[in-house]
Amino acid sequence: MTYTTHHEKRSKYHVSKDSNSGLANGRKRAVASVADRQPLSTSIDYASHPVNEIFGSNVFNRQTMRALLPKTVYKAVVRCLDHGEQLDPAMADTVANAMKDWAIARGATHFTHWFVPLHGYTAEKHDSFLVSNVDDGAVLEFSGKNLVQGEPDASSFPSGGIRSTFEARGYTGWDPSSPAFLMDSANGRTLCIPSVFCSFSGHALDVKTPLLRSLEAISKSTVRLLHALGNKEVKRVNCTVGPEQEYFLIDEAFYHARPDIISAGRALFGARPPKGQEMEDHYWGSIRERVLAFMMDAEHELYRLGVPVKTRHNEVAPAQFEVAPVFESSNLATDHNMLLMEVFRKTAQKHGFRCLFHEKPFSGVNGSGKHNNWSMADDQGNNLLEPGEDTQDNLQFLVVLAAVIRAVDKYAKLLRASIATAGNDHRLGANEAPPAIMSIYLGDALTKVVDNIISGKASDKKVGATVRSGVSMLPDILKDDSDRNRTSPFAFTGNKFEFRAVGSSQSVAMPNTVLNTMVADSMDYLADEIDKAAKKGGDLKAAINSVLVKTLSDHKRILFNGDNYSEQWHEEASRRGLANLKNLPEALPVLVEAEAKELFSRYDVFQEDELVSRYHILLENYCKTINVESLLTSNIATTMILPAAIEYQTRLATAIVQTKSAVGGINLAHQENMLKDVSDRIARLRTAIEVLDMLRHEQRGEDHLDDEHTAEARFYQQRVIPAMNEVRTVADELELMVDDSLWPLPKFREMLYIY
Ligand code: ADP
Ligand code: MG
Repeated sequence: MTYTTHHEKRSKYHVSKDSNSGLANGRKRAVASVADRQPLSTSIDYASHPVNEIFGSNVFNRQTMRALLPKTVYKAVVRCLDHGEQLDPAMADTVANAMKDWAIARGATHFTHWFVPLHGYTAEKHDSFLVSNVDDGAVLEFSGKNLVQGEPDASSFPSGGIRSTFEARGYTGWDPSSPAFLMDSANGRTLCIPSVFCSFSGHALDVKTPLLRSLEAISKSTVRLLHALGNKEVKRVNCTVGPEQEYFLIDEAFYHARPDIISAGRALFGARPPKGQEMEDHYWGSIRERVLAFMMDAEHELYRLGVPVKTRHNEVAPAQFEVAPVFESSNLATDHNMLLMEVFRKTAQKHGFRCLFHEKPFSGVNGSGKHNNWSMADDQGNNLLEPGEDTQDNLQFLVVLAAVIRAVDKYAKLLRASIATAGNDHRLGANEAPPAIMSIYLGDALTKVVDNIISGKASDKKVGATVRSGVSMLPDILKDDSDRNRTSPFAFTGNKFEFRAVGSSQSVAMPNTVLNTMVADSMDYLADEIDKAAKKGGDLKAAINSVLVKTLSDHKRILFNGDNYSEQWHEEASRRGLANLKNLPEALPVLVEAEAKELFSRYDVFQEDELVSRYHILLENYCKTINVESLLTSNIATTMILPAAIEYQTRLATAIVQTKSAVGGINLAHQENMLKDVSDRIARLRTAIEVLDMLRHEQRGEDHLDDEHTAEARFYQQRVIPAMNEVRTVADELELMVDDSLWPLPKFREMLYIY
């Protein structure tokens, strides 16, 4: 089956020019142009090319290498991938050559090292394969050196002070554990080589290097613990991650009429729509044609890139959606999530949409998160968080579980800090997302097991109870013991933990780096304790049990199965002494506390200056983000909203004057009240803008990297954000008063419903 393209139809995507002039032109034209959009069908043909055929076709993966590399080289690459052995430079030449031929045969002209610097977005600098100074025509080359190392002039990436201290240049280095791939664009293809990014002195300037280090740490510590438990076969442990990704789609015509969404990724103005998500009719609703066309197109591209996307559905808020992959090893899952966001952004544009990954693009409806599903597997592929048939007696599972429980309790603040971003501050703690208080949900069955261990009772809990549907012809459904609790930030969901507080726009590298390192520390702690207990003599099982009892008792305060949104939980959590770091300026300093510095340096994940540099970059990023938002707020309120309100004020005033002169003595109290209401708001809006603008002058002079920096972040959080909110409150009131035909910004009821 072939599909016809609708490119002709897409020419309708330009907006019509016939509207009468006036303030609201952009908005009116946007609404009109969205009305006749068509689903864009591309020439995807799964009947002739099923998914299993195209999957990974743009990836230089093991299968491709096995086919293209000499046997000895392929074996060396496999040893490098599976056992962390370094690849002989001579072999790198062979790999590079095969990679080049493979890429060129598929239409690639350029290559790039592909990496994520500390600003958190992917970076690429393309070089062609062409070597110029050759007399006899163009020669295409790509050496082992080109593959292994790049030297971008990277002085414009954030380094948080590291590079100036040590060395100006940043170097990218090939990460063989994440396969190279071909990125398509309209006029050609580029070979992308996933890479780390470091300074000459070996300081990490990216998000991947610490993640890789943390994976080594957790593997080493977990293997040590498993050996202490008597499981001596295991040599390596891998973390597995499946990040579920939430996002919004809005039509590009609305996007272009919203300077706030263009520059800040979120709506800084907008009254709550009359219909929000209260009908609960969007979640898992039937997916609109145009959206499904986009999803399928993006998935098609991702399949070819070897990204195993699996689930698609409508999310809770109107115009909100989710995509989830099949889990992979942590490093690959992290790269693939970055790739997914990029492909989604690009494909959305092709379909006349804009894909918004911001954590809170629209206040009043749910924001977006990224559920970081996380587990560990041994080198035989056994999931270490998979309870056995009989949970009570499954000692290894329980010890691993205890390690995670201890880690989340001991390092809760650090885990919280790992997800602190300006965007996520809008989400954590609002009654829709997990709160900023870290706690663990285990579910009833497992909680009972834990309680019984602590109290020394045997469990009477039968695992695998069934739920009866009450319909005789249907089979009983196996009851999932880890019943869903959507309010928990860190939930056990059967055979993995789901860290739900991660922001939708951030790379999962940092949260996983922190998680892996703190769990590594717990693994070592438990191994130490078990060794100590065993040395006292007696049965190993008894020794393990005593350590288990102690660890679970020490850390049971972090367990909570109830409603994390409730006020009672906030009170209860504070009684238990659990931290509630409500926003980034409160959370981020945890990164540079002595405990964090000690932990990360003990596991060689971050040296102290690497940690401090990250702290500075993240703080600075927060300040810059809110500064941009405050400028936009002032700008839009002054140049778009005030003029609309004044125009309406003039119309009302004119109507009153003219009516009075036409009909002497007429009572116009209502019209006069309307005029007064609008005039009041105009005055309040103007005042609120002035307050906001004045703050901008107040904070000047603190623009440097030291402790003042925290003060500046707090200033933004405590003063600038409330001032922005005040501007918005008045503007949103005006939106509900001013003549609709004059309102310049697309409204929520339009952006979230018309697509
Ligand atoms: P839900 O959370 O909605 O019940 P699933 O249980 O299907 O959905 O899983 C959600 C995500 O968790 C998927 O991306 C899936 O691949 C991932 N996942 C499943 N098992 C593991 C595991 N062992 N380690 C990491 N992620 C996993
Ligand atoms: Mg989930």
